[in-house]
Amino acid sequence: MTAEIISGLEVAKEIRQTMKTEVTTLKEQGIVPKLTVILIGDDPASHSYVNGKEKASNEVGIESEIIRLESTITEEFLLEKINELNKNENVNGILVQLPLPEHINEQKVIETIAPEKDVDGFHPINIGRMMVGQDTFLPCTPYGILTLLQSKDITISGSNAVIVGRSNIVGKPMGQLLLNENATVTYCHSRTKDLKVHTKNADILIVAIGKEHAIDASYVKPGATVIDVGVNRTNEGTLTGDVDFEDVKKIAAYITPVPRGVGPMTITMLLANTIKAAKRRNERE
Ligand code: NDP
Repeated sequence: MTAEIISGLEVAKEIRQTMKTEVTTLKEQGIVPKLTVILIGDDPASHSYVNGKEKASNEVGIESEIIRLESTITEEFLLEKINELNKNENVNGILVQLPLPEHINEQKVIETIAPEKDVDGFHPINIGRMMVGQDTFLPCTPYGILTLLQSKDITISGSNAVIVGRSNIVGKPMGQLLLNENATVTYCHSRTKDLKVHTKNADILIVAIGKEHAIDASYVKPGATVIDVGVNRTNEGTLTGDVDFEDVKKIAAYITPVPRGVGPMTITMLLANTIKAAKRRNERE
């Protein structure tokens, strides 16, 4: 068996095409979706992610603004900036690019963003809404993965879904979204004993740990769907995933590559959340 490769790039392209039309219609009604990104310091990876977000926004017609701040700014200054954006009626989505300098409290920053502008879906209010299955801004990476699975009509209801990694931005919300779709969900993490016992039982295996090629075919049930969230830089300077793609593709039914797998979907769902925020604000007026 050779797995079908799920191209996040292709699925993202199709969704963005539809978004472009939607944004054009919104603009005709006087609604101009706008995303403001705050970028602190000079971490090259953060710069590259923010550039990608700006490019994608422009591609679909979403207005984008990047506020670049020195890594020496105080937490108070940053919170004040966020509060200004919360009040700014032209801004629909606010995103503070993580990670933050050590002297700034990440949770405080996340909780300062108004929930109705939290297009990353990290605010505890939005996480809580997701938990109880209410309509909300879903965290972009898990939302993108769910959309990828649905784009291939992969059966989620009743499946055994195993998530390796339990971060607040990927693993935990991913499990919750799949539970909402009636999967039986198992979370694994660095303290999990005998990881293989769990992963080999997965119909859907989602790996988000940040360890190059930690998962080879010996961890995978034949016919499984394997989603690789990991982004690791190799010694040669290229990007690779947490899954040994060449090995696992021999036995999986579906697999995502790195790059061009989950990454483009994460950005696409950020755009979806920004459009949603703009529409919601218009409905409230
Ligand atoms: P974190 O570092 O926040 O979390 C990693 C998780 O993996 C932790 O829960 C940790 O367990 C677990 N873990 C680490 N090593 C092992 C192991 N050997 N076996 C089992 N579990 C392990 O990472 P993120 O969730 O933020 O990101 C994960 C990866 O996904 C990274 O490579 C990141 O770059 C990538 N990423 C990609 C995105 C995209 O759009 N493509 C978006 C976001 C992230 P414990 O909790 O016990 O410490």
